[in-house]
Amino acid sequence: MGSDIGVPVPGQAVSGEAALGRSVAGEAVPVATPSGPMTAWRSAMRQALEFAAQAPAWGDVPIGAVLLAPDGSVLSQAANEREATGDPTAHAEILAIRRGAQRLQEDTAEGGRSVDGGVAGGWRLERCTLVVTLEPCTMCAGAIVAARIGRVVFGAFDPKAGAVASLWDVVRDPRLNHRVEVVSGVLAEESTALLREFFADRRRSE
Ligand code: ZN
Repeated sequence: MGSDIGVPVPGQAVSGEAALGRSVAGEAVPVATPSGPMTAWRSAMRQALEFAAQAPAWGDVPIGAVLLAPDGSVLSQAANEREATGDPTAHAEILAIRRGAQRLQEDTAEGGRSVDGGVAGGWRLERCTLVVTLEPCTMCAGAIVAARIGRVVFGAFDPKAGAVASLWDVVRDPRLNHRVEVVSGVLAEESTALLREFFADRRRSE
């Protein structure tokens, strides 16, 4: 925990992994770059994928999330725990957000580590980045907006339930007063492979 993976300062231009151009808001699609912020996103995504890969052990779909502080250190990480806990809201994103905010709260209460960039306690995660292996659903997109998260980096698109690009674009809806930067398609193949393997195994055992 606490590894600095060199996340760039928010506001700096961020590139998309691929020319996906599926924003409902019709925003310009960034062009992929070989280095820069994408290196940091990939590194965090690898961590999220590693966490996701553990979820089948407790019967859950392999989806993982990592919440990064403004300085790039890891605040929290989680994988789906819906089956493990019987909690329908236990998606990786929700758990990472909850644990990350809790950690900031504890750090502030102890008067210890102050997270670079003015994120100190409370529930606002304004300059934080949520890295998740699959495009968030409507519930998670809503939680991302509620937590005021500054940026979402996701792996595979979810054409059946995605709510930050595919079916809806909740986090960049101009009617909301908080808008989130979205970087899509980071290590998407790895995420898809993990999910495919999980569902194939499950079919085999049925
Ligand atoms: Zn979700």
